Amino acid sequence: MHFVVCIKQVPEGTEVDIDPETGVLRREGADAKLNVYDTHALEAAVRLKEELGGTVTAVSMGPPQAEAVLREALMLGADSGYLLSDRVFAGADTLATSYTLAEAIRRLPPFDVIFCGMQTTDGDTAQVGPGIAELLNIPHVSYVTRIREMRAGAIAVDADTGYGIQTLRVKLPCLVTVTRAANQPRLPSYRLKQRTKDQPVTVWTSRHLAGADRSRFGLRGSPTQVERIFPPDRPTTRQMLAGTPDELSAGLIDRLREWRFL
Ligand SMILES: Cc1cc2nc3c(=O)[nH]c(=O)nc-3n(C[C@H](O)[C@H](O)[C@H](O)COP(=O)(O)OP(=O)(O)OC[C@H]3O[C@@H](n4cnc5c(N)ncnc54)[C@H](O)[C@@H]3O)c2cc1C
Repeated sequence: MHFVVCIKQVPEGTEVDIDPETGVLRREGADAKLNVYDTHALEAAVRLKEELGGTVTAVSMGPPQAEAVLREALMLGADSGYLLSDRVFAGADTLATSYTLAEAIRRLPPFDVIFCGMQTTDGDTAQVGPGIAELLNIPHVSYVTRIREMRAGAIAVDADTGYGIQTLRVKLPCLVTVTRAANQPRLPSYRLKQRTKDQPVTVWTSRHLAGADRSRFGLRGSPTQVERIFPPDRPTTRQMLAGTPDELSAGLIDRLREWRFL
């Protein structure tokens, strides 16, 4: 079995610093960590490897410092790590990100399941997993809350549809995106930390993706352009309403209309 896990380095904390001039996230200097949903994706893959045998390959696209999350993945049970890092990959929207990851995965040994987190805590779009699956022309299931079993060339999972839980059996190879309900990720192991501390992470640039369409990488391959990103205004004025419950609810509705929430 070969499991591929896509992992992304994201800014630590919830306060994201945005450059007011360019509208792009200021990543330099910000503390970074492994996207929390990706720890659940990795855990799902490592558990299946422990149960069925095989290997886990972690893949990340990002600047050189994203190597840190691949090292963390090795400590959490991945067998190898690939960092896709090249200036031409920079500025990618979700389509270009999906394309670059899909082209890299095509060049790895054949896989059975690709695991992604359900979303990231910075970009937050939840589009990259399904994007990779579409580009590789394989089935995918999003928002998986439980991995039931994997056998006979298929994986059975529970997925949260927003209105209930669906149990699905999907033919391999496929891609699943994992929610936090799917498992409890393990902590990095000291034994694995010692064993993997000198293990290299493979860095691939666009040269390693020979044959891919370079015009689909990075900013050039991104049809989405961020026009403006800004923190929402948080009004600090407070109004106290007084009166009977009927007067209070009527007053509240008036305010909501006035502020165009209704
Ligand atoms: C015009 C434009 C310019 C942008 N410029 C930049 C920029 O300069 N720098 C920048 O960092 N971002 C940039 N972004 C944001 C970038 O598009 C997203 O961060 C990226 O496409 C991933 O989307 P997401 O974070 O919403 O991931 P989601 O779709 O929410 O992620 C779902 C899952 O996909 C996988 N995944 C997502 N991204 C990666 C990755 N990079 N490597 C491995 N697995 C991954 C993970 O498993 C993750 O849990 C830009 C976006 C736009 C539209």
